[in-house]
Amino acid sequence: MTSRKPGLNTICTHVGELKDEQFRGAVSPLYMSTSYAYEDVEVKRYPRYFNTPNQRALAQKMAALEHGDAALIFGSGMAAVSTSLLAFLHKGDHVVLQKTLYGGTSNLVTEEFEKFGIDFSFTKDLSAAAFEKEIKENTKVIYIETPSNPLLTVTDIQAVADLAKNHGLVSMIDNTFASPVNQNPIDFGIDVVIHSATKYMGGHSDILAGAVISSEEKIDRIFQLAKNFGGSLSDYTVWLLERSIKTMGIRVRAQNENAQKLAEFLEQNEFVSKVFYPGLPSHEDHELAKKQMKGFGGMLSFELKDLDSTTFMKYLKLIKPSMSLAGVESTILSPTKTSHALLTAEEREEQGIGDQLMRFSVGIEEAEDLIADIEQALEETRKDMLDVRL
Ligand SMILES: *Cc1c(COP(=O)(O)O)cnc(C)c1O
Repeated sequence: MTSRKPGLNTICTHVGELKDEQFRGAVSPLYMSTSYAYEDVEVKRYPRYFNTPNQRALAQKMAALEHGDAALIFGSGMAAVSTSLLAFLHKGDHVVLQKTLYGGTSNLVTEEFEKFGIDFSFTKDLSAAAFEKEIKENTKVIYIETPSNPLLTVTDIQAVADLAKNHGLVSMIDNTFASPVNQNPIDFGIDVVIHSATKYMGGHSDILAGAVISSEEKIDRIFQLAKNFGGSLSDYTVWLLERSIKTMGIRVRAQNENAQKLAEFLEQNEFVSKVFYPGLPSHEDHELAKKQMKGFGGMLSFELKDLDSTTFMKYLKLIKPSMSLAGVESTILSPTKTSHALLTAEEREEQGIGDQLMRFSVGIEEAEDLIADIEQALEETRKDMLDVRL
């Protein structure tokens, strides 16, 4: 590579690639060994030590993508989340987290932390002042997720990073929804960046994986726990993930563009009462999003006006119902019936998640086709409801 600092798509395509010295093939060879020599070697390699050739190569790409020094690749996003949090939290410690978190992360904290003797506070208000109010003597970590699921709220990354520095705390962010294409929290002073690589990094709804990116020192600390917890990713999947990331830049940028067009279309539609997308000037955190994001992402949500969400979903032909997100195909879900089904109606109401809310993961199809699909489904749903009334 040249001395110029590589740009996004060059990092995606090339950083960390392994050379096929033997046959000079175009792609990284895959080393599936679980057993490596131990004499006269630099490192004692073993998949659960996170140091096989393919794991090291992909970690380099991850670190470059997030402007960090080092990275670890995990078997799932939750393995990355749990190992990172527990690496910096001990018995008697306290962590401040934002309330609107990925469900699995919320569950980890509320269902498991008590047995480790770790105390926690959630804040609904996302201002730095609200986070500061929750800081105690024994607080060690601040944890945020932005944009959040499903209402795409935006947390001020710089403000939280500064707050953590002022109080000597470790700041962590779940950067999954933005992806490294749209947001690089380390540039704002965040210590630990976590990804569910199952989402935009994988991008094809066929890989479960996680990643953590940070400084050498913090990655080493996370590694000390990771090797004991055993959450590494199979080298075969590491290799597939490396291939997927080659197109992440172009995929996510296409998804940004489609999501913007769809958000604008939905906002104008008479059957939609509200659209939540950080790229819309009507989004309450649009200015903040502009400050910290390079693109506004492929996730949006919207509320149907007087139309039944189940009926609407039934009439969609191109856009599929799906629990997960971030694939090249567009998918949709009702948070009330899926990701937030375990909350009580009051809790959902408090978080602003109504029965009419739809969460939309925008794919790379032609925007005009997606718009046409939504238009016909809205029309069919409206006719259905008229029939019922007549
Ligand atoms: C999916 C997801 C996770 C969990 O990742 P898994 O790969 O499913 O373990 C964590 N955070 C966010 C924001 C997610 O969307």
